[in-house]
Amino acid sequence: MEKSKVLIIGGTGYLGKRLVKASLAEGHETYILHRTEIGVDIDKVQMLLSFKEQGAHLVSGSFTDHQSLVKAIKLVDVVICAISGVHIRSHQILLQLKLIDAIKDAGNVKRFLPSEFGTDPARMENALEPGRVTFDDKMIVRKAIEDAQIPFTYISANCFAGYFLGGLCQPGKILPSRDSVVLLGDGNKKAIYVEEDDIAMYTIKTIDDPRTLNKTVYLRPPKNILSQREVVEIWEKLIGKELQKSSIPKEQFLASLKGQEYAQQVGLIHYYHVCYEGCLANFEIGNGAVEASELYPEIKYTTVEEYMKRYL
Ligand code: NDP
Repeated sequence: MEKSKVLIIGGTGYLGKRLVKASLAEGHETYILHRTEIGVDIDKVQMLLSFKEQGAHLVSGSFTDHQSLVKAIKLVDVVICAISGVHIRSHQILLQLKLIDAIKDAGNVKRFLPSEFGTDPARMENALEPGRVTFDDKMIVRKAIEDAQIPFTYISANCFAGYFLGGLCQPGKILPSRDSVVLLGDGNKKAIYVEEDDIAMYTIKTIDDPRTLNKTVYLRPPKNILSQREVVEIWEKLIGKELQKSSIPKEQFLASLKGQEYAQQVGLIHYYHVCYEGCLANFEIGNGAVEASELYPEIKYTTVEEYMKRYL
């Protein structure tokens, strides 16, 4: 089977650049939207040029120019969007409604992967304010995709390793301490951690796979389903030292949100659902969904222990 041509939107982003790399590595003809708004952002321009050198095609366009999006989409079979969706950085999830309009007009797209890559928003109807905005916006995008009958795959990537493992599952931290750690509650709720290049590789594997058509794909590498305490234990073993531990009870954690900036509150609520409620691992994958490490056993994913060694 011929490999699909892929357009990546947000190709210079934290996840997007890895999607570009994985798409090229898997031999897909890869196009990257080169937004006209990039201006004199020299880092982004240099990154795009280096992707071009590696074989990607840059295609000029803007979310403010519908026809430019249609033209870009017409070049490919598959569109993957990795537009921003973390409030402390930038959150542009609803801009995808413009992309969906363009996909509808173009009429040629065999698969669209919207910017999801986290907690499955369909399971978060009871999420707390203000963190639920992320899930609500992603659900608005899903509805638009499904109303337009655009073939899709939703990637539920669980925790990006860099954010969660780097900080031993503590919000606001992305480097592991060698002295102490604050456990969220009893620290025993399981979460799921996936290295970002692995997320990108699993994602690219799904795009030509009929088993993932119109499905949610959960990324659940079996060795990486661990509690905060288990992550801390792995780190302690690596550094040969026990960390001093304290714990923050649920009520105190929620009370600490008051007075914080909106973007911080959104992120803290995400930690709440993951670490106090165990929202990522407390359910069985249902019939309408599939699991990536089962579909693609050939991918040798990065284990939590291997990942933590990077910080030594
Ligand atoms: P980034 O913040 O790195 O941004 C990605 C891209 O979004 C940018 O590179 C840019 O694309 C594009 N973008 C930003 N603002 C605009 C705008 N105004 N107009 C058009 N494009 C814009 O995104 P992330 O990689 O952090 O997030 C990608 C996805 O991953 C999101 O859905 C997010 O929710 C999810 N995520 C999940 C995490 C988890 O732990 N599960 C953690 C982090 C993110 P360009 O290249 O064109 O400049």
